[in-house]
Amino acid sequence: MNYYSLHKKSPNVSFQEAVVNGLAPDRGLYFPEKITPLAKEFIANLDKYSNEEIAFKAIQQFVGDAIPKETLQEIVKDTLSFDFPVVPIDENTATLELFHGPTMAFKDVGARFMARCLGYFNKNNNAKVTVLVATSGDTGGAVAHGFLGVKGVEVVILYPSGKVSDIQEKQLTTLGQNITALEVEGVFDDCQEMVKTAFLDTEINRVLTSANSINIARWLPQMFYFFFAYKQVYKQHKEVVFSVPSGNFGNICAGIMAQKLGLPIKHFVASTNINDTVPNYLVKGVYEPKPSKMTISNAMDVGNPSNFIRIQELYGNDISSLRKTFSSYAFNDHETREAMKKIHQKEGYIPDPHGAVGYLGAKEYQKNDADSLCIFLETAHPVKFLDVVEPTLSVNIEIPKQIEEILHKEKEAKFINTYSDLKAFLNSEKIRA
Ligand SMILES: *Cc1c(COP(=O)(O)O)cnc(C)c1O
Repeated sequence: MNYYSLHKKSPNVSFQEAVVNGLAPDRGLYFPEKITPLAKEFIANLDKYSNEEIAFKAIQQFVGDAIPKETLQEIVKDTLSFDFPVVPIDENTATLELFHGPTMAFKDVGARFMARCLGYFNKNNNAKVTVLVATSGDTGGAVAHGFLGVKGVEVVILYPSGKVSDIQEKQLTTLGQNITALEVEGVFDDCQEMVKTAFLDTEINRVLTSANSINIARWLPQMFYFFFAYKQVYKQHKEVVFSVPSGNFGNICAGIMAQKLGLPIKHFVASTNINDTVPNYLVKGVYEPKPSKMTISNAMDVGNPSNFIRIQELYGNDISSLRKTFSSYAFNDHETREAMKKIHQKEGYIPDPHGAVGYLGAKEYQKNDADSLCIFLETAHPVKFLDVVEPTLSVNIEIPKQIEEILHKEKEAKFINTYSDLKAFLNSEKIRA
């Protein structure tokens, strides 16, 4: 399987090159040359297969011969060592819980898969690869845990000082080994800017790659979720709709890939906070990216979603065909808090703010289609957003084991102020491969 750049000005590359490059040389996102639907027989009997078998079948064609079959099976098995339960909310609404991984955010699966692929590609290399990533919170923790102890890979994470939650900071700064956290005096955009500058800087003497959802090895495994959910509900014999809380639109785009592979998904709802570039595009037909605004569902505070261009490609760059099976709605913080209360009081379920945005999208969709089963994705455990969830719902949330353990560990981070600090650090002997 080869990948082309969506800017169409770079040569096509293998899965391996696309993973190692992250972005094509022309700054375009990589996209698979071909998508071959899976056998109907397989999809009709999904509940007879384990999650590992399903995931392997879904991803195999995209990896091609870049990784031997047995190794890919091991990677998939290792990636998916936790549960993905669908929990009923009301008669025709359910939630798919994606927070049972080590950092309790859905990004664990993509980060673990990518880490294992890079580890395989690099196992005989003397020159290490450095994964450089800026985080506003969740990405950094998932990437750090995913890559922990992977041979041949160094991870450097930049995060804005004082702007991530205590739990998130601990998840980034307490691991040691091949993970280094850099605490930046500034905001997330400053971290992001430094990372971008480093990627273009020819004087950095190490191989850099990115680990956000532009990377195909982080983006594609998110297809698995939609198969796992469908497997749990299809015997209810209802049409299935997904509402996906969206920021960079990588997760929902992976859902559309699952649909292209033959999964019978009736409709997608992209639910956003007030960062409403895509909902506006569907109404007006004009794509106008904006600077991001801060909300209580901060993992979705994105004004120019990087994966939307992949969604357009999947719909042949035709807005009218997009509108047929894809809707998008935006909700503000007040509506999100009210939804959290309603889900808690009426249905006895504690959502996090991102899940609550997904719920609101589901309810909006159900105004025109009350009969389908609408599944919204719960993308983070409520404990990761304690400062919002506890006061909104007047509850105390029990701290899960994997979080409790790190709260006692000592933070280790290096302060940096400017790009030249980052450059000096990347070129220092201490971690040079
Ligand atoms: C990253 C993230 C999202 C948004 O996912 P995208 O793939 O960027 O659309 C939603 N919720 C949580 C908790 C996240 O961490």
